[in-house]
Amino acid sequence: MCRHLGWLGEPVSISSLVLDPSSGLRVQSYAPRRQKHGLLNADGWGVGFFDVDGGDLRRWRSAAPLWGDVSFASVAPALRSGCVVAAVRSATVGMPIEASATAPFSDGAWLLSHNGVVDRRVLPASPAAESTVDSAILAALIFERGLDHLADTVVEVGSADPGARLNILAGNGSRLLATTWGDTLSVLRRDEGVVLASEPYDDHPDWQDVPDRHLVDVSAGRVSLTPLKGSS
Ligand code: GLN
Repeated sequence: MCRHLGWLGEPVSISSLVLDPSSGLRVQSYAPRRQKHGLLNADGWGVGFFDVDGGDLRRWRSAAPLWGDVSFASVAPALRSGCVVAAVRSATVGMPIEASATAPFSDGAWLLSHNGVVDRRVLPASPAAESTVDSAILAALIFERGLDHLADTVVEVGSADPGARLNILAGNGSRLLATTWGDTLSVLRRDEGVVLASEPYDDHPDWQDVPDRHLVDVSAGRVSLTPLKGSS
């Protein structure tokens, strides 16, 4: 399983979210603390964010391990955003390893990461998918249905493939949405904003675990949790 992280709040540097924390995505790329599937996340990384001025969506993705990317480490302190979706990847067996198979995926309005696995045969083929990786095809379906229907789409795909793990994290500049379906997610409310992360990036006592099979909706500093329908 991959690890992902989202930020919604005041503009902060990308490095303060991804590289600097004692157990942030950089460290999670080789030493995740809560990962149930896979030992490390060496098959690529991606950071997507919305510009502070103008709100343009930008992405930087790579098929190489995050821990060794000295160019990103040099530039990340200068990149600032109030809405970020980032991920490190542990590719599912049989999936392509290439930048376009690495989250976050995008439809131009949303950034989306998938932590998990889904049988591609239960997903409709989509010419809009960025890659043949299961996560890109799932992202294309979620974009097509619309993020307002994220909960319904996850429940529907989860019932078509009972073995699927469908942990989604998405952001559009003013809202973060996430689902838990088979893996961990934690929330940290900070004075300047809200962090959602597959696992806490440090040992701050305010991290709270999200129960499995929930939808998390963050906007305007508010965090709401809703159980997903059809959950057992
Ligand atoms: N199935 C996706 C991939 O191959 C995600 C894998 C994961 O969550 N580790 O990239």
